[in-house]
Amino acid sequence: GVVEVGAHWIHGPSQGNPVFQLAAKYGLLGERALSEENQLIETGGHVGLPSVSYASSGVSVSLELVAEMASLFYSLIDQTREFLQATETTPPSVGEYLKEKIRQHTASWTGDEETKKLKLAILKNLFNVECCVSGTHSMDLVALAPFGEYTVLPGLDCTFPEGYQGLTDRIVASLPKDVMVFDKPVKTIHWNGSFQEASAPGETFPVLVECEDGDCFPAHHVVVTVPLGALASGFLQPHSLWDTHWLLSSHFHSEFGIELLYCAL
Ligand SMILES: Cc1cc2nc3c(=O)[nH]c(=O)nc-3n(C[C@H](O)[C@H](O)[C@H](O)COP(=O)(O)OP(=O)(O)OC[C@H]3O[C@@H](n4cnc5c(N)ncnc54)[C@H](O)[C@@H]3O)c2cc1C
Repeated sequence: GVVEVGAHWIHGPSQGNPVFQLAAKYGLLGERALSEENQLIETGGHVGLPSVSYASSGVSVSLELVAEMASLFYSLIDQTREFLQATETTPPSVGEYLKEKIRQHTASWTGDEETKKLKLAILKNLFNVECCVSGTHSMDLVALAPFGEYTVLPGLDCTFPEGYQGLTDRIVASLPKDVMVFDKPVKTIHWNGSFQEASAPGETFPVLVECEDGDCFPAHHVVVTVPLGALASGFLQPHSLWDTHWLLSSHFHSEFGIELLYCAL
């Protein structure tokens, strides 16, 4: 067996997903993941319900009640798409929006206090699951307006029986030898300059990638995909290319947001 410590799943494994296409091309997926039937399943991005749930007292919770609360929670999550084009939203976060809507719903709940408490506990649990899905400590930290940007492709999530790394290994093997360099931390990317390269006399390059071991790579264009923490620490010189605070506060709201920063320098 394989124990993955990082990415494990292909989310939305269907023809519109390039990761799925490559994995299928390289023969890395099982029969079920490749089946037409699996590719057509629409999950809407919502995690499936547990087959059994228990309260902290050890009592099992009615599956109907769990399904009812999940249906409410996911309908509210789906409603957040309405704010996609909004320039300003009140409330500003997904968490505050959900809590406000749940407050409105609870006002119309009938039944005994114990059942109401149980319903709220189930909703709290769904909040926690959503935090895991969105890679955040709190849904209050996730901006409402861009939340609906996520497109969930059809297909029931699948895994690589032999491990995700099989895919990157195949991609690397398909490239010419020596075009990839590993264990080469980049110290600074100097941009907007005029750099020379001994092997290309007379040519000037606007970018210079300087590595921690002193090696330098002049370039016409650089695509930077390092984490934001590295960008914010003065990785790019001069540093004023982006207002890092703006970048951090308005563009990124979850671990799954992959942003390619094209430095057309
Ligand atoms: C535990 C966990 C499980 C996950 N599971 C899934 C999953 O099942 N399916 C899924 O689709 N996604 C999953 N994700 C999310 C997915 O792994 C990320 O979204 C994805 O890896 C982001 O890719 P990236 O290229 O933007 O960044 P990264 O993969 O973080 O790549 C950034 C790279 O930059 C390098 N770097 C940083 N600083 C420097 C420097 N100074 N010089 C040179 N290199 C540098 C880092 O070493 C790293 O290799 C998971 C994430 C985690 C943490």
